Amino acid sequence: LFISFEGPDGAGKTTQIKMLEEYLKNKGYDVVLTREPGGTYISEQIRKVILDVSNENMNYMTEALLYAASRAQHVSEVIKSSIDEGKIVICDRFVDSSVVYQGIGRNLGIDTVEAINKFAIDGCMPHVTFLFKISPEEGIRRKSKQGEKDRLENEKIDFHKRVYKGYEELRDKHVDRIQEIDAEKTIEEIHEDIKKRIDDIL
Ligand code: C5P
Ligand code: MG
Repeated sequence: LFISFEGPDGAGKTTQIKMLEEYLKNKGYDVVLTREPGGTYISEQIRKVILDVSNENMNYMTEALLYAASRAQHVSEVIKSSIDEGKIVICDRFVDSSVVYQGIGRNLGIDTVEAINKFAIDGCMPHVTFLFKISPEEGIRRKSKQGEKDRLENEKIDFHKRVYKGYEELRDKHVDRIQEIDAEKTIEEIHEDIKKRIDDIL
């Protein structure tokens, strides 16, 4: 089983992923927790290049290709084999992030970003995606409290609003796969919500 978590920055994905991992491990499942960009030695090195604040002049196509390159390594080295071994793979962001951030946020276009990523994902898609819904304003507020600095730090509210809209568009396009989660509820409430949905799938 392959599960991805998606949503704007500051939505609380990482917190919930750790709680879900704990829950599934206690049930006896073999769980692989991973993230994008990153998840392998090579992919984490690419992540550093992508997020480095000093790379402020990075071309948007370069950025999109780096995300895809990081993903190609991640899929081939970790995700595919783990799924084949019957493990549950939980991934913090996957190709939907690229479609939304690079395709819509950066205006490269959904078709272009999907085309690039077709090679990277090699037919590997999440069975279920939890999309964390949080207003762009609240997301920015929470992210600034986390204090992680990256190259996206200086993006204006417009960028985050495009990302928000992009996720809504994607959700409507993939209703069978993408399940929306109200990320403005409490941490415990969200965890309960996710547990219920996972129990239905397992
Ligand atoms: O989710 P995480 O905090 O690891 O993401 C790191 C940064 O990369 C965030 O600022 C996120 O918005 C950005 N990102 C992006 N395009 C992607 C994936 C992540 O701009 N495809
Ligand atoms: Mg996070």
